Parts: sequence; structure tokens; C-alpha cells
Amino acid sequence: MQISDQALTLHQKAIIIDGHNDSIIEHWARGESMLFDPDLPEYQVDLTRMRAGGVTAIFSMVGGGDLFQCVELWDGMHANVETYPDHFTIINTPADIEACKAEGRIGLIGQLESCTALGKSLRVLRVFHKLGVRVAGLTHGEADPDSLHGTRSPFDYCTQADRDAARTAFTGLTDFGRQAIPEMNRLGIVVDLAHTQDASYFEAIELSRAPVVFSHGNIFACCPHWRNLTDDQLLALRDHGGAIGVAFYPRFIDQDPERQTLSRLVDHIDYVCDYIGDDYIAFGADYDGIGGQVAIPPSHADLPSLTQAMLDRGFPESTIMKFWGGNFLRILSEAQRLAE
Ligand SMILES: [Zn+2]
Repeated sequence: MQISDQALTLHQKAIIIDGHNDSIIEHWARGESMLFDPDLPEYQVDLTRMRAGGVTAIFSMVGGGDLFQCVELWDGMHANVETYPDHFTIINTPADIEACKAEGRIGLIGQLESCTALGKSLRVLRVFHKLGVRVAGLTHGEADPDSLHGTRSPFDYCTQADRDAARTAFTGLTDFGRQAIPEMNRLGIVVDLAHTQDASYFEAIELSRAPVVFSHGNIFACCPHWRNLTDDQLLALRDHGGAIGVAFYPRFIDQDPERQTLSRLVDHIDYVCDYIGDDYIAFGADYDGIGGQVAIPPSHADLPSLTQAMLDRGFPESTIMKFWGGNFLRILSEAQRLAE
């Protein structure tokens, strides 16, 4: 795709915050260095491609399993900052993200994708906050004894009737889930509802007194998958000031492999903007977390093609700026403002 001067200028101006990245855990799972080196063709993310795409910050997944794994992943995050201090820094406050934009560094925002590592301990949650966790996914779908919700999240295509039934058939938050969310609010950790099932989604969004994110997942009306938000979930997200990060995972973009395209991804973005407005749209690419499939767009280096596609579709520049990072920055700022 040819990128116009208008698209490039706009893209370079934007604060770009990727709402979900699994690269560190993917390196860890392969038993390799957890560094975002300049040239890593066997991964979807490396320093060169992040730079080419103008990335300002990423929600970097540093925990989805047990406590040992979390600590190891934290070592990986810090190793990047120690090895490449001119390129990476750890984000503690929203102002740090703006500093990254001004200074030309890439911010790493610690994100949990499941809270089972907490072992039902708010003390552990508080230590995680001190280490830099600023976004916490309640679940990766599991409903283990230490989980924050009571029913395992389904993961497949489904019908609207399945979704409606889930509201009452599923068990929402566990007692620990009901304790953890207020504590996240108090600390200024953003609650992330990606991978929650329908019952826990609605219960958590009601309970959180700060805006939530749905960091990576798409729109059910465009692609009927359990991991995509239904219309009433979008309305609840709007009413609580949250944002959805559309994911670049082909199976969440369309059920038909022929229609898993950049243009179809823009349909999801367009749907959100039409239905609830452009204050609630963002992205969470999920690079290195999609089992080796080619993402749409394939890497951070290709993000300008999405700016071009959105301009071609007629989105105003202000909407594109909110999509790339403005909305996530607003939510991180709100979470900090509401923290005690
Ligand atoms: Zn995920």
C-alpha cells in the first residue's frame, strides 16, 4: 500500500500505544533471550519494526501463569531497559508516556493477563504495582481455584443466543475478584476485561470505579466469536468510559478466511465509532501471541498502512489520533487520578 504524505505526517504525530503484546512471554516460552533486539525475523516484534511503526508504548504482558513465571518475565522487561536504555523505559505514570513521545523512547507498561499469580493475595497485587504493573487482565479464560471469575471463558465462534444465555448461566466474579478490583482502582491499576466471559464482564465493569480497558478483542456484530464484544457490552463500555483495543488476530476479524483483511479490520473500528463514538476505540495488536499466524497488519512496521486505510475510509484525523493512543492515555490518566 502506498502511504500518502498526509498519512505519514499524521502517523508521526500520534502517540501510539499498543494495548497487548506477548513478545516477552513468547521469548521466555522458547527459552531464548527476552530482548527486543533490532532484527528478529522469527518473531512479530523487534526494535527495528517498532521504530519503523512509530510505537510510543506497549502494554507488555508480564504474567499469565504462576508467580515464578511473572518474576522471570519481569527480568525480561528490565533487561530490555538495561540493554537498550536509549530505546526503552518502564512506564509508571501517564506523563512517562508523553515523555517517551518527546524523547523518542518506547515505553513498556507492565500488564497481567490473568491474576492467578496473585494466589488470592492483595499483598502480591500491591508488590506488582510497585514493580510497575499498570494494567491487569482479570483472566486468560481460566476458572482455576485462584481465578477472579467462576466460569471458564469459552473460545470459539458462537451465536447471539449463546451470548445472551451466558449472562445468567455463567458465574461472574469470585469473592477474590470482588476484592481485587477495588484494590486495583485504589492503586491506579487499570482493569482489563479481555478474555472475561459475559457474566464477569458485566459484573466487573459495574464494580470498577475507574474506566476499564478491553485490551485486545473485536466486535461481535462483525465477527461472532466469544472473544468479541456484543452491542450491549459496547454500550456498557461507553457508559463507564472504557475503551476496546481491536486485535489484529485474523480469526477475530472475520469467520471467513477470505475476508480476514485490513479493510475488514477497519469495519470493526468503524462499527465502534458509529455505535458508541470515537472516545472508546483503541488497538491491542496481540503480536507474538497468535500462534504464529500472520497478523493484520503483520507487524508494527505496517501500522502506517492502517492510518492510510482509516484516512481512505474517511475517518477524521482526530479520531485516528484517539485510536492510536489518545483513548488509552486518557484511561491511564483517569486511573491515576482516581487512585488514592
Ligand atoms: Zn490474549
